Amino acid sequence: MNYLVFWQNSRVWCRSTEGEWILGTLQAVGDASPVISVLDGQVIKAETSMVLPANPDILEGIDDLIQLSYLNEPAVLHNLKYRYSQGFIYTKAGPVLIAINPFKKVPIYSSEYIDMFRQHGSKAGLSPHVYATADSAYKEMITAGLNQSIIISGESGAGKTETAKIAMQYLAALGGGGGVENEILETNPILEAFGNAKTLRNNNSSRFGKLIDIFFDSAGKICGAKIQTYLLEKSRVVHQAPGERSYHVFYQLCAGADAGMRDRLKLRHASDYHFLNQGKCLAIENVDDAGQFHRMLNAMNTVQINQEDQEKAFKMLAAVLWLGNVAFSIIDNENHVTVTNDEAIQVAASLLECGALDLIQALCTRKIRARNEDIVQKLTYPQAVDARDALAKALYASLFDWLVERINISMEAGKKRTGKTISILDIYGFESFQSNSFEQLCINYANERLQQHFNRHLFKLEQEEYSAEGIDWTRVEFVDNQECLDLIEKRPLGLISLLDEECTFPQSTEISLAMKLSKHLSKNSHFKAERDTGFTIRHYAGEVTYSTSGIMEKNRDLLHTDILELLSSCKSSLSRAFSAKKGEGFRKESQKQSVSTKFKGQLFRLLQRLENTSPHFIRCVKPNAYQLPDNFEQDLVLQQLRCCGVLEVVRITRSGYPSRHLHQHFADRFRIMLQKQASDTRDALSVCISILQHFNVSPETYQVGLTKLFFRSGQIAVLEEKRTRT
Ligand code: ATP
Ligand code: MG
Repeated sequence: MNYLVFWQNSRVWCRSTEGEWILGTLQAVGDASPVISVLDGQVIKAETSMVLPANPDILEGIDDLIQLSYLNEPAVLHNLKYRYSQGFIYTKAGPVLIAINPFKKVPIYSSEYIDMFRQHGSKAGLSPHVYATADSAYKEMITAGLNQSIIISGESGAGKTETAKIAMQYLAALGGGGGVENEILETNPILEAFGNAKTLRNNNSSRFGKLIDIFFDSAGKICGAKIQTYLLEKSRVVHQAPGERSYHVFYQLCAGADAGMRDRLKLRHASDYHFLNQGKCLAIENVDDAGQFHRMLNAMNTVQINQEDQEKAFKMLAAVLWLGNVAFSIIDNENHVTVTNDEAIQVAASLLECGALDLIQALCTRKIRARNEDIVQKLTYPQAVDARDALAKALYASLFDWLVERINISMEAGKKRTGKTISILDIYGFESFQSNSFEQLCINYANERLQQHFNRHLFKLEQEEYSAEGIDWTRVEFVDNQECLDLIEKRPLGLISLLDEECTFPQSTEISLAMKLSKHLSKNSHFKAERDTGFTIRHYAGEVTYSTSGIMEKNRDLLHTDILELLSSCKSSLSRAFSAKKGEGFRKESQKQSVSTKFKGQLFRLLQRLENTSPHFIRCVKPNAYQLPDNFEQDLVLQQLRCCGVLEVVRITRSGYPSRHLHQHFADRFRIMLQKQASDTRDALSVCISILQHFNVSPETYQVGLTKLFFRSGQIAVLEEKRTRT
């Protein structure tokens, strides 16, 4: 659908051979290749497909992309870049707020700013802002009595968590007063300590997804909150890539614990722990771990996690660290092992409150049931390391869950909910790496679901506007991603079901899994089998190739009976509580849900929640890969706009009639183009019709609504051009 018209001297974007978009002026339009002069006096000849119309000067840096007359990629990018260079990190794309990470302090988050938005809302000419988004959520909750959601997405380091905190601060200012708001804000340093880590992409990367429901009473005051977390990255507890760290809290504890605690927990320096020193990165520039530890302790006090529970949690952390120092050596030619580091075993066992010999046995042997008899089998070196790591990961993940539960108890206790809720979702964006595994599969699946929610909502808004104006919207294209979702979640022949089924066969391998997927899914146009142990999924944001290697272990996520028995023998109340939880799943082995099925259920409930809210979308964008200020890389930004659906907004809007003008405004603007008698003394609509007819505007390119005229993309620019010539 190309309704674009070029004319001489019009401003155009022209794609250079290097793939960059440059701004130029059209000199002449030949048969196939227009001639364009670009800024530095150069004249180039370009293929028509490489040329796109540019927006008039007056639209430079406009704060809603939808107002651009031409909504093509270079125009969108140029506008964002221009605004970013002026310090405007926020821009709207219709109903979506785009936030580009400034990677520096920007002076727009003070209490003066909060007051300004509180008074004027998002109207009154204030620039787009997270405050404005939070403000409309709050006001809509109050006036319409509807639950609201603020859905924040973007890739790692794009600014989701910071944005979520900024929104929470604004809501706390509006709905605060009772004191609960402080508790809610203080959950952030706690969850960041236990769930965030330094990665190569982000020094404070959240390694879990989070939904926080903030409850309000009927007077609009905050009265409580509830947190739900998704898929904590457990592997980080036992292993980190070079230059990355484990969870902040470990380093904080090692650096900040007082003498008494160091003694009780037998704490050493972070560099002394195998689980912390593998990434060869112990500190983060400009971060004081000891200071952060005290900050976190204060937060725990505010959230009413008592001393006893705090001590329990730290004891568990120390146990995990000491467990990591348990080393093995091979004792026979069958690769069987014994524990070498006696100190580590002794300390770990004492912190877990179990017997040292029991711990050694759980790590070095395994009981197998054969013909109603327990046979003790010795573990090989890799098996023993696996057993140790599995125990450490399970302990940490359980600790994290316990902490969230503990926080929820504090924030919900005795608080009466009489009003509505605002939910804030801070969840990992679409991921596509060199090598992709189970984690990316789950994350990208979640993003498919959220994208569908997003598209349907936008499309619904469009339809509502068209219906209200009484115009025909059947000519608006809409592509749903249901087919890709079916590929992943349909039963019994979707990816998750097939994976679960393969996981129940003891003989299955990564190759048998790849073959099974290939056999059942190759018909789906979103699936492609790769050689050996891989497959590709065509996601809405692009193709991603996943490896089946390790997927089944991650999906099963089983703890061996011996480890569970060890946990239940522990006297420490936390480990026992963990084992009771895990054991429940274990006893009903056949019914224990796989990680992907459990995640599917969580996602389903999440979406159900979101469906019943009025959504506000924030898309965070990372302008460069180096966490640097004042550095805007076009290609990187473009790729994210594509992944987070901003170009989809543009596409959905553009496939309809994006330019909307009130009859009166349109008549006033263009009536000078008519002969005098045709424009006088008639109602606005008749003047509009005369203008449209007089200038032969093709009926394909506009629709007349009850109060507005709707135009296809670019049509107004054509009329503007004609207007300047009259
Ligand atoms: P991940 O997916 O890894 O958790 P994220 O999207 O949550 O990433 P953040 O941790 O929110 O990313 O942001 C990364 C860093 O970017 C922050 O630590 C901060 O330094 C900077 N940053 C983000 N937003 C802002 C902002 N509005 N103003 C100033 N700095 C910001
Ligand atoms: Mg984050």
